[in-house]
Amino acid sequence: KLSKRLQMIADRVPAGSKVADIGSDHALLPTYLAQRGIILFAVAGEVNPGPYEAATRQVLESGLSKVISVRSGDGLAVIEAGEVNVITIAGMGGSLMASILEAGKHKLTGVTHLILQPNVGEDHVRRWLLEQGWKLESETILEEDGKIYEILTAVAVPAEERAKLADLYTERLLAGGLKVSQERLFQMGPYLIHQAPDVWFAKWESELRKLAMIEDQLGRSTAEASIEKAAQVRQEMNEIKEVLACLQ
Ligand code: SAM
Repeated sequence: KLSKRLQMIADRVPAGSKVADIGSDHALLPTYLAQRGIILFAVAGEVNPGPYEAATRQVLESGLSKVISVRSGDGLAVIEAGEVNVITIAGMGGSLMASILEAGKHKLTGVTHLILQPNVGEDHVRRWLLEQGWKLESETILEEDGKIYEILTAVAVPAEERAKLADLYTERLLAGGLKVSQERLFQMGPYLIHQAPDVWFAKWESELRKLAMIEDQLGRSTAEASIEKAAQVRQEMNEIKEVLACLQ
């Protein structure tokens, strides 16, 4: 049985797909998808030897070697352009995820869906998607074992639709005329801010506590750079608080 997090990722993979799961670790996701006949083919990519061996063992023991190809390599280096139509990347930071996509963007020909679950730094992923002309189609947030995860699904769109993609992030007005900046939408999620589920509130309340700790630490220094940074953190906290207050 998959974790709730991996299950929600699996649920977003269209039936009949060819998938590359990058940073697959034990290849649990492709194994599940192959066992249920949801996918035709998968590549499980791993850069580290331990997880690569774990994935190889898992696929062999499940008798899925004909459907899942376990490959060792960095990011999208493990796939050929046109080989898969779905890419899943889960359980790593958003900034690493964006750099993997950037380094391998020539491999994205024929890819229709990117299903991404950054652990932190979701703004890096949303920004990369927008800059590269991918349409963020849905956002989900869930809590499992005391941790909160977001799953971002993006789809490829025809070139003529790309100019409109930024509309999703244009400054918008919340109740009471509060303006939310593009930067805040990258962080908080253009769909999630709209849906504002309880888990999302819990996430941002926890982020505020982390920022308060950072501000407190910076406040102990008299260095100019720290004073400036503390002011930025306070500004960010105020903006987040305003958004939450407006939606509550
Ligand atoms: N995707 C699985 C999941 O969500 O449960 C495993 C997540 S695990 C925390 C992250 C995995 O990504 C590790 O096994 C790590 O070796 C792998 N990884 C990190 N950087 C990578 C890269 N540049 N290319 C491929 N795999 C990478």
